[in-house]
Amino acid sequence: MDRRDFFKIAGGTILAGTSGVYAIRRLTGSIPGSTVADSPLTGKKWGMVIDLSKCVEDCTACLDACRYENNVAFHQDERWDVHWIRKIRLESKIGTTSTEKSVILLCNHCEKPPCAQVCPVQATYKREDGIVVVDHHRCIGCRYCMIACPYNARYFNFKDKEDWSNTDRPKRSHGVAEACNLCAHRIDLGELPACVEACSNVGEGAIMVGDMNDSGSEVAKIIMAEAVKRLKEDLGTEPKVYYLGL
Ligand code: SF4
Ligand code: SF4
Repeated sequence: MDRRDFFKIAGGTILAGTSGVYAIRRLTGSIPGSTVADSPLTGKKWGMVIDLSKCVEDCTACLDACRYENNVAFHQDERWDVHWIRKIRLESKIGTTSTEKSVILLCNHCEKPPCAQVCPVQATYKREDGIVVVDHHRCIGCRYCMIACPYNARYFNFKDKEDWSNTDRPKRSHGVAEACNLCAHRIDLGELPACVEACSNVGEGAIMVGDMNDSGSEVAKIIMAEAVKRLKEDLGTEPKVYYLGL
């Protein structure tokens, strides 16, 4: 199956407005000129499964694809770098035996997202289909969401990015917060998020996205049948990123 046609599109497509070179911050009112559109797909709830056993230690395909697709401000300087998706090494020790594994981290698109609850201007919100997004036109850069997120999934644009890799996607200025938006613009077109496609293209398929409301979807089947884990489940945020092999 062509993975870009993986999703079944139930309705028409509404594209996010992409006009405006730099974000204009608004404090109140409706969202004219918003860079984020509500999902045109009704009845969906997008979730992700990451199979860590398939993730190759030195592979950065998903990270590279995300940075390119979303114009993520990656300056190769940890003081300023923004990460929508990252990989860390986890070491676990049982007795004298220690094992290491790579873990992919990104926004969990929490069903009860504390980041959205604290945002004073509703710049961060959860779409009907469960994707948590930031409207950069509304963000005032207070960074409450970064403090509220228990997963350190949010980053702040301290510096403008000079080279914009993907001219089809909106630019944003320094002074706004952001996190993975599950490539909502691609999902709305029936395409896979850039990281999922990149991982598939290198032959691994460690990252899967699908409709959790569709019991026949690959993601829903894995969540129902396999020993999946979520991060910090005890907090009650109900993350929608599930791990195999964590
Ligand atoms: S992981 Fe953090 S940024 Fe993402 S929805 Fe949850 S609280 Fe918000
Ligand atoms: S920094 Fe976060 S909490 Fe503050 S306005 Fe922007 S999105 Fe909302």
